[in-house]
Amino acid sequence: MKLTAALFLTAALCLINGSGAAVAADETQIFGTERSVVRITPLYHASAMVQVGRDIIYIDPAKPAKIEGRTAADLILITDIHGDHMDAADVAALSKAGTLVIAPAAVAKTITEARVLDNGKSTRWRDFKITAVPMYNISHNQPSGQPYHDKGRGNGYVLNYGNRNFYFAGDTEGVPEMRALKDIDVAFIPMNLPYTMTPAEAADAVKAFKPKLVIPYHHKGQDVEVFKKALEGSGIQVRLLNWYPE
Ligand SMILES: [Zn+2]
Repeated sequence: MKLTAALFLTAALCLINGSGAAVAADETQIFGTERSVVRITPLYHASAMVQVGRDIIYIDPAKPAKIEGRTAADLILITDIHGDHMDAADVAALSKAGTLVIAPAAVAKTITEARVLDNGKSTRWRDFKITAVPMYNISHNQPSGQPYHDKGRGNGYVLNYGNRNFYFAGDTEGVPEMRALKDIDVAFIPMNLPYTMTPAEAADAVKAFKPKLVIPYHHKGQDVEVFKKALEGSGIQVRLLNWYPE
């Protein structure tokens, strides 16, 4: 990203968020873009809601995220087949006429209405460009030697909107495709064992692609302060949110 654009984002963040810290009681994060503001609400673990104008997007809506009473989705993005990411009942509950579901092929076996997006491919939806980034294990495998997440099965997503890039990594380690990302403004990065990576490994991966802001998610049982400390002095902002409300 060019310097001017970087300054724009920083200014917009400060303008809306004051110190740049979390604002609303429900921890909704508000980000300035060159179009409308983007609001991102953590729901639970890997589940999040993105609101842009009237458009409502859910990322991995799945129990125990509470979806009762929430506005129906215009778009649902699903990363993988595991129950903390893919929940057919919740997808059905959040769907209305015209809801688009985007998912990898493995998910579309269950969520049959999903439009398949393969690793590395992009698609346009309204004012968004959505790119599927590979997510997989490279060193943390099951006792059988099988990865928890096979390469090619799941999708992380980069949502490009208003010249800003929001990255939801999904269940992954710091794979080369993540490290090669460019111009990411906000990155949601997992850190939990044995399924993804340690906070230290996550910090190492993030240093490689230097997003402006990182928000750890999918981190149950991990010490996210280790991640935050590892990025001190790197120029990368870290913001800790409560992904595990009671
Ligand atoms: Zn997971």
